[in-house]
Amino acid sequence: GRMIEVRELTKRYRGTTAVDGLTFTVEPGRVTGFLGPNGAGKTTTIRVLLGLARPTSGRVLVDGRRYTEIRRPLHRVGALLDADAVSPGLTAHDHLRWLARSNAIAAGRVAAVLEQVGLAGVARTRVGGFSLGMKQRLGIAAALLGDPRVLVFDEPVNGLDPDGIRWIRGLLRSLAAEGRTVLLSSHLMSEMAMTAEHLVIVGDGRLVADTTVRELTGRF
Ligand code: ADP
Ligand code: ADP
Repeated sequence: GRMIEVRELTKRYRGTTAVDGLTFTVEPGRVTGFLGPNGAGKTTTIRVLLGLARPTSGRVLVDGRRYTEIRRPLHRVGALLDADAVSPGLTAHDHLRWLARSNAIAAGRVAAVLEQVGLAGVARTRVGGFSLGMKQRLGIAAALLGDPRVLVFDEPVNGLDPDGIRWIRGLLRSLAAEGRTVLLSSHLMSEMAMTAEHLVIVGDGRLVADTTVRELTGRF
């Protein structure tokens, strides 16, 4: 259980094949890096995983199920996808409170995750006044809200300062050490070397390598 399985996934848009027969597995207990240049198909794969895009063929399963078949999905899968998606007029607290309420998550989790991501002091500030780094932290708080066993982060270091980057590396490693399944998408090899153990490398929507950071760096 607790695995992400991408099976022969293909996603075509008019004129573009974003993902082209991609297969890989993400296991619990370690950070899996999803590495590839911009346009390689990482976000599309994650959008299919989250039920936000329909595959042309193939599938993405979490614990053997499609996302749309998971009951109470925020309790099972947490994701940071687009940190700008929060309504600017809401406070951090109200945004999370609304998410918690509409997903049957205990209200006490809101304060807990705000503390965990370092936003407790600005909980009552409107998100419109947040820096990109603060929005990333809020997106991470939302991902953690349901205490899910599976976590997916798409380019999470965007907009973070060096302290924020160190913080998020530690957070992802500790989530994996707790036995969670953690997928980290990034176009930066440096990010992978610091954070991931398992590495899935993609280019042009296809698998380039399914390896480990140790194996890869050991070759040089
Ligand atoms: P990555 O996350 O690795 O940067 P994406 O999954 O965002 O890659 O994009 C893969 C390819 O699919 C790119 O060529 C991109 O332009 C294209 N693409 C992504 N989403 C759409 C869409 N909604 N409509 C058309 N083309 C898209
Ligand atoms: P996008 O153009 O953003 O990639 P798609 O064209 O793939 O989106 O999907 C269109 C709509 O289908 C989306 O609004 C999405 O919510 C919905 N959808 C996603 N997964 C499924 C599914 N498995 N079956 C039916 N509809 C789905």
